[in-house]
Amino acid sequence: MQNPTATETALSEAEVHRIREDFPILQARVNGHPLVYLDSGATSQRPLAVLDAERDYLTTLNAAVHRGAHTLAAEATDAFEDARAAVAGFVGVDDDEIVWTSNATEAVNLVAYALSNASIGRGGAAAQRLRLGAGDEIVTTEMEHHANLIPWQELAARTGATLRVIPLDDEGALRMDEAARLIGPRTKLVAVTHVSNVLGVVNPVEQIVATAREVGALVLLDACQSAPHLPLDLHALDVDFAVLSGHKMLGPTGIGALYGRRELLEAMPPFLTGGSMITTVTTTEAAYLPPPQRFEAGTQRVSQAVALAAAVRYLASIGMSRIAAHEAELGAHLVAGLSALEGVRVLGAGIDLPRVGLASFDVAGIHAHDVGQILDDAGIAVRVGHHCAQPLHRRLGVTASTRASTYLYTTRDEVDAVIAGVARAIDFFRRA
Ligand code: PLP
Repeated sequence: MQNPTATETALSEAEVHRIREDFPILQARVNGHPLVYLDSGATSQRPLAVLDAERDYLTTLNAAVHRGAHTLAAEATDAFEDARAAVAGFVGVDDDEIVWTSNATEAVNLVAYALSNASIGRGGAAAQRLRLGAGDEIVTTEMEHHANLIPWQELAARTGATLRVIPLDDEGALRMDEAARLIGPRTKLVAVTHVSNVLGVVNPVEQIVATAREVGALVLLDACQSAPHLPLDLHALDVDFAVLSGHKMLGPTGIGALYGRRELLEAMPPFLTGGSMITTVTTTEAAYLPPPQRFEAGTQRVSQAVALAAAVRYLASIGMSRIAAHEAELGAHLVAGLSALEGVRVLGAGIDLPRVGLASFDVAGIHAHDVGQILDDAGIAVRVGHHCAQPLHRRLGVTASTRASTYLYTTRDEVDAVIAGVARAIDFFRRA
């Protein structure tokens, strides 16, 4: 199952309160008020299990992985590879199809650079189908986070390929008629987000993959806003690449992951080069390890990988379907409550697609930073600005918006607090 469904049992209030006890930061006070954290779309909080896993690794196992011959190094290597297996299992792929990166942005760039290295003739015969040049097309969308847009702009500029962009309708939904038109025989790669970090809607990825398959194009899925919130099976979705961001799924900053279909990773030339990714090196050339090590040059972020594994185990222990159901309820409540306020326009509210617990909105006549300031004064943390999605905001006719985003630890009372806080902001600025 890829989308939240109404049939799953959402978390009960008692369960959410028990979950909150695992997150020490949720007891914090901000500006004299209990913290109401509604910025998990930017970065999520970490449970004790994740903090403990990183500390335990550092206090009992820390050593250089895949290098040392001593016992501690072997145990550290096992922990590192167990972490890879945990993340692979969480998203339904094989262990050696997960490449560690420092964040999702690096994972997208890894694919873009590997493709342009193939374009300049690296990677041998197997890389032939990855080569890009004049006449080839890369397709992305107008709703992408800049992380899944700018690397493709640059790849097009480096290779002479053309970048095509699937437009949005007036509500912000992907124009699927245009997607069917733009994805054609020249398309080599389609890069699309699973869940918009601004609209919170779950895109019809299955349909996009089916269209791409018809023309033999590869698909890269930006799963940054779906993997933390929905059950995800990347093999079942049949995408070729996917990118994940550790700090949005209860894990640490400094770690992300790239999923790549095994035969594609095997065909891809490296991105970064140096130590840890080679077999033999002479002064003039080098032979590379198979994936995933081929793409993991230099010393890796081992404690962060171990902590990310603890994060996905924690999420799995609660159940992704139940988390999705909880957030779908909160998201619907958030959109309804905000939409009922005079002058508030929730971006994409009219889109008829499943959604996660995230809403971005514009308040007529009041700048998003002012709304954010009033909320912050009451201890409510939200994100304001363009959320790294300027083309989407431009298309919807706003320069900035305020975004409230929930997670498994968010209560209905907190959603009510945001709605009440926005009502207060409107009242304050209308009277001023
Ligand atoms: N894609 C989406 C949809 C995001 O929301 C984000 C982060 O906000 C990213 C990509 C970039 O993730 P990272 O910070 O891990 O590079």
